[in-house]
Amino acid sequence: ELSKRLRLVADYIADGAALADIGSDHALLPVYLLQSGKISKAIAGEVNPGPFKAAQKAALAAGLTDRLSVRRGDGLAVLEPGEADTITIAGMGGALMSSILEAGRANGKLEGVSRLVLQPNIGEDAVRVWLLEHNWYLTDEAVLEEDGKIYEVLHAVRDAEAAPKNEALYDGAFLPLPFEPELKKVILIRMGPHLLRQPTAVLIAKWQSEIIKLERIWSQMAESSVQESMAKREQFRKEIDLLKEVLACLP
Ligand code: SAM
Repeated sequence: ELSKRLRLVADYIADGAALADIGSDHALLPVYLLQSGKISKAIAGEVNPGPFKAAQKAALAAGLTDRLSVRRGDGLAVLEPGEADTITIAGMGGALMSSILEAGRANGKLEGVSRLVLQPNIGEDAVRVWLLEHNWYLTDEAVLEEDGKIYEVLHAVRDAEAAPKNEALYDGAFLPLPFEPELKKVILIRMGPHLLRQPTAVLIAKWQSEIIKLERIWSQMAESSVQESMAKREQFRKEIDLLKEVLACLP
């Protein structure tokens, strides 16, 4: 059975998509989508030898070697331009994910790709920034809890109207907070423009535990006479207070 997390990623894939799953590990996602009949061909990319072998083995065991092409390489380097219309990247940090997307973009690997489904484990803000900068429109976001961990899934499409749509999406005027628009935008990039518009209990729990984590770090940063550490501690305090204010204003 596919995890709830990967199930949510799978739910965003269109019927008949030409999928490339990057960082596929055991190729659970493409195998599931092929077996369910939702798609008829897929590529699984892996950079590390262990997971690459695991993906090969999974394709063989499922009898899918003719429809699942398992390739070894860094990020989108495994793709020929135009081969995939949908790319999924799940289960890695947002900074790595956006560097993979950026390298792929620079090398023309995103040509013909119309849909991205991204599940960063941390650093979702880096992914949202990359999408914004490259005119992808973030159509939807989901947050879920599984085995005590909280995950986010981001769905973006290539859209000629991405710039004005994103401008509206990242307009934080709906937040009842006395902040400058720029700061509200930063908050939306950090916490999710769709997620903040319809906050769920899981979203609130995610940020509450983030606050607890930051509070712990803050209290461990001993008061110091060194200017630099004082400034850093002060910065943490500000961030914590900001997050608390945002949570307090949500319905
Ligand atoms: N996508 C699967 C999932 O969500 O369950 C597996 C996630 S696993 C934690 C992350 C995988 O990404 C690892 O197997 C790792 O080898 C792979 N990976 C990391 N950097 C990569 C890169 N630059 N290109 C391709 N794969 C990469």
